[in-house]
Amino acid sequence: MRPTRMEIVGSFLAIRWDDGGESILGLEELRRNCQCARCAGEVDVTGRLHRMGPPPVYTPASFELAHWEPMGNYAVQLRWGDGHDTGIFPFERLRALGQDDDGADPNAGSNSTDGPAGASPTPE
Ligand SMILES: [Zn+2]
Repeated sequence: MRPTRMEIVGSFLAIRWDDGGESILGLEELRRNCQCARCAGEVDVTGRLHRMGPPPVYTPASFELAHWEPMGNYAVQLRWGDGHDTGIFPFERLRALGQDDDGADPNAGSNSTDGPAGASPTPE
Protein backbone atom coordinates (compact mmCIF):
# COMPACT_ATOMS: atom_id res chain seq x y z
CA MET A 1 0.00 0.00 0.00
CA ARG A 2 1.45 3.33 -1.04
CA PRO A 3 0.24 6.70 -2.23
CA THR A 4 -0.06 7.25 -5.93
CA ARG A 5 -0.87 10.90 -5.51
CA MET A 6 -0.59 13.46 -2.72
CA GLU A 7 -2.11 16.88 -2.96
CA ILE A 8 -2.69 19.79 -0.61
CA VAL A 9 -6.29 20.97 -0.65
CA GLY A 10 -6.76 24.01 1.53
CA SER A 11 -5.66 22.96 5.00
CA PHE A 12 -5.86 19.27 4.17
CA LEU A 13 -3.61 16.71 2.61
CA ALA A 14 -5.42 14.45 0.18
CA ILE A 15 -3.81 11.09 -0.50
CA ARG A 16 -4.87 8.68 -3.21
CA TRP A 17 -3.72 5.13 -2.47
CA ASP A 18 -2.74 2.52 -4.98
CA ASP A 19 -5.68 0.37 -3.90
CA GLY A 20 -8.09 3.10 -4.93
CA GLY A 21 -8.73 4.40 -1.42
CA GLU A 22 -8.43 8.02 -0.45
CA SER A 23 -7.44 9.75 2.76
CA ILE A 24 -8.10 13.36 3.72
CA LEU A 25 -5.86 14.46 6.54
CA GLY A 26 -6.05 17.77 8.37
CA LEU A 27 -2.61 19.37 8.26
CA GLU A 28 -2.90 20.57 11.83
CA GLU A 29 -3.85 17.11 13.02
CA LEU A 30 -0.96 15.66 11.07
CA ARG A 31 1.54 18.02 12.62
CA ARG A 32 0.21 17.40 16.09
CA ASN A 33 0.61 13.69 15.45
CA CYS A 34 4.25 14.07 14.49
CA GLN A 35 6.12 11.21 16.13
CA CYS A 36 9.64 12.53 15.75
CA ALA A 37 11.97 12.65 18.73
CA ARG A 38 11.51 16.38 19.10
CA CYS A 39 7.72 16.37 19.11
CA ALA A 40 6.97 13.09 20.81
CA GLY A 41 10.19 12.34 22.67
CA GLU A 42 12.19 9.18 22.51
CA VAL A 43 11.88 6.13 24.71
CA ASP A 44 15.16 4.55 25.70
CA VAL A 45 15.79 0.86 26.41
CA THR A 46 14.67 1.24 30.01
CA GLY A 47 11.35 2.70 28.91
CA ARG A 48 12.07 6.24 30.03
CA LEU A 49 10.86 9.06 27.83
CA HIS A 50 13.41 11.60 26.75
CA ARG A 51 12.66 14.82 25.04
CA MET A 52 15.11 16.59 22.82
CA GLY A 53 14.87 20.19 23.85
CA PRO A 54 11.70 22.03 24.80
CA PRO A 55 8.27 20.83 23.67
CA PRO A 56 7.21 22.11 20.27
CA VAL A 57 5.77 25.59 20.00
CA TYR A 58 3.31 25.83 17.13
CA THR A 59 2.77 28.85 14.95
CA PRO A 60 0.40 29.17 11.99
CA ALA A 61 3.31 28.21 9.75
CA SER A 62 3.67 24.98 11.72
CA PHE A 63 0.51 23.71 10.10
CA GLU A 64 1.47 24.59 6.56
CA LEU A 65 2.99 21.74 4.65
CA ALA A 66 5.90 23.08 2.67
CA HIS A 67 7.31 19.94 1.12
CA TRP A 68 7.25 16.19 1.30
CA GLU A 69 9.71 13.58 0.31
CA PRO A 70 9.27 9.83 -0.06
CA MET A 71 11.32 7.76 2.39
CA GLY A 72 11.99 4.42 0.74
CA ASN A 73 8.67 2.85 -0.09
CA TYR A 74 7.14 2.79 3.35
CA ALA A 75 6.94 6.38 4.55
CA VAL A 76 7.00 10.04 3.65
CA GLN A 77 8.99 12.81 5.29
CA LEU A 78 7.07 16.04 5.78
CA ARG A 79 8.59 19.50 5.95
CA TRP A 80 6.47 22.19 7.53
CA GLY A 81 6.29 25.93 7.03
CA ASP A 82 8.27 26.56 10.20
CA GLY A 83 11.16 24.43 8.94
CA HIS A 84 10.38 21.36 10.99
CA ASP A 85 11.32 18.35 8.88
CA THR A 86 12.24 15.51 11.21
CA GLY A 87 8.82 13.89 11.13
CA ILE A 88 8.56 10.61 9.27
CA PHE A 89 5.06 9.36 8.60
CA PRO A 90 4.78 5.70 7.60
CA PHE A 91 2.07 5.12 5.01
CA GLU A 92 0.17 2.85 7.38
CA ARG A 93 -0.01 5.65 9.90
CA LEU A 94 -1.24 8.15 7.34
CA ARG A 95 -3.88 5.69 6.29
CA ALA A 96 -4.96 5.07 9.86
CA LEU A 97 -5.12 8.78 10.67
CA GLY A 98 -7.25 9.38 7.61
CA GLN A 99 -9.77 6.80 8.70
CA ASP A 100 -10.18 8.18 12.19
CA ASP A 101 -13.20 10.37 11.62
CA ASP A 102 -14.44 8.79 8.47
CA GLY A 103 -17.95 7.88 9.60
CA ALA A 104 -16.71 4.74 11.28
CA ASP A 105 -17.66 5.94 14.74
CA PRO A 106 -18.07 2.78 16.84
CA ASN A 107 -20.74 4.49 18.97
CA ALA A 108 -22.79 5.70 16.05
CA GLY A 109 -24.67 2.45 15.51
CA SER A 110 -25.95 1.82 19.01
CA ASN A 111 -28.53 3.99 20.67
CA SER A 112 -29.42 1.40 23.28
CA THR A 113 -28.09 3.59 26.08
CA ASP A 114 -30.97 6.00 25.54
CA GLY A 115 -33.86 4.37 27.38
CA PRO A 116 -37.41 5.50 26.74
CA ALA A 117 -38.00 8.81 28.44
CA GLY A 118 -40.54 9.01 31.21
CA ALA A 119 -40.68 5.28 31.83
CA SER A 120 -38.25 5.27 34.72
CA PRO A 121 -39.58 5.54 38.27
CA THR A 122 -38.60 8.76 39.99
CA PRO A 123 -36.19 8.13 42.80
CA GLU A 124 -37.14 9.93 45.94
ZN1 LIG B 1 8.11 16.45 14.86
